[in-house]
Amino acid sequence: MNHVFARNSTAMPPKAVRGEGVYLYDESGKAYFDGSGGAAVSCLGHGDPHVTAAIKAQLETLAFAHTGFFTSEPAEALADRLIALAPGELDRVYFVSGGSEAMEAALKLARQYFLEIGQPERQHIIARKQSYHGNTLGALAAGGNAWRRAPFEPLLVHMSHVSPCYAYRGQGKDTPEAYAARLEAELEAEVQRLGPETVMAFVAEPVVGATMGAVPPVADYFKRIRALCDRHGILLILDEVMCGMGRTGTLFACEQDGVAPDICAVAKGLGAGYQPIGAMLCTAAIHDAIAEGSGFFQHGHTYLGHPAACAGSLAVVERLVDDGVVDRVTPLGEALQERLEAAFGQHPHVGDIRGRGLFRGIELVAVRETKAPFDPARKLHAKVKKAAFEAGLICYPMGGTIDGQKGDHVLLAPPFIMEDRHLDEIVDKLSGAVETALDV
Ligand code: PLP
Repeated sequence: MNHVFARNSTAMPPKAVRGEGVYLYDESGKAYFDGSGGAAVSCLGHGDPHVTAAIKAQLETLAFAHTGFFTSEPAEALADRLIALAPGELDRVYFVSGGSEAMEAALKLARQYFLEIGQPERQHIIARKQSYHGNTLGALAAGGNAWRRAPFEPLLVHMSHVSPCYAYRGQGKDTPEAYAARLEAELEAEVQRLGPETVMAFVAEPVVGATMGAVPPVADYFKRIRALCDRHGILLILDEVMCGMGRTGTLFACEQDGVAPDICAVAKGLGAGYQPIGAMLCTAAIHDAIAEGSGFFQHGHTYLGHPAACAGSLAVVERLVDDGVVDRVTPLGEALQERLEAAFGQHPHVGDIRGRGLFRGIELVAVRETKAPFDPARKLHAKVKKAAFEAGLICYPMGGTIDGQKGDHVLLAPPFIMEDRHLDEIVDKLSGAVETALDV
């Protein structure tokens, strides 16, 4: 008799018993290359001794002290470290337990900020179609993925959704500059429709992860968006839950776009799987509006700033930055892109190979020339996931790439500690899985 409420009640997954380096092992002893870090979590692989030692030491000293009563050394040290590394004016860190919580905090902070500065009319949030910001109701409402939203639509607050920056399908015959300008114009039109003085925030993932498969923006897109937000006094909230913490080659993904947000959400790689943790970073201006106003951010969760989670995360950041693990990401990512292009570049059912750093996606198409997707009923993405898993590769395929219904992609987000030799293992196993899935 099984009492775990599993994600999928039609198929019981194997029991994971051990993690070591880039591999996970099930109870039969079978090894799986963790080619997606679950969902872009395990950037340091499994069993990192520096991180586990830091967590153990913290547990032996102080496991928990509620933030309604205390601050703690690991939370203070981690906040200092993150702010020293963060772009732009980011100055304060609010620690939570994961990505959805970080996004909820970001949305509520944006609203409270405008109340504090006497602009209560600012209540609209604009996000992008095909984004994912989490599964709690506020974050789900910001997300633009039709399939994820559909069952809960009556519970979701209204937010606007504009087009994502999706060069493969959206750019057409435009230059990247013209495409970025077109997307900016679309956002400007939506801001004007709502009334610029009523919009509080624009929300986006710098590199779109789960719902689209590692889609980076074209050059200048975010600079234009940043300027638009500044023109209208709108806050820019960047969701770096998946693409942040070095995944794209820089600690914060937006560094490569030459912009900094007013509020930023990180999670996943922040804990690297060793502890559940997320964080919302905001500028001094936003923090101080509250500090000098009501003095109280009307939000909170029991496990905010959990000392063991913060200690583990500080050790993760030390590994990423002080030990130079992040520096491995760009060269390894470029090598992965080359191998993917060698294996799939001419494949009749691979339309696009994209991404940044160790965050790569391939988009599967029925007809390469027309970019026509496969019939969603075929569930090609699920077949690739199953075939890859059987072959000992964990990757993150998903359907609905184009509009939440149509399209299939495979997301890869391997550990930064992987070696060059592992690239062949990933690409060979993925090639086999794609062929198996196409045959079914
Ligand atoms: N935001 C993004 C961009 C994500 O990819 C995810 C999770 O995949 C979330 C938010 C939600 O994070 P969590 O699952 O930790 O709540």
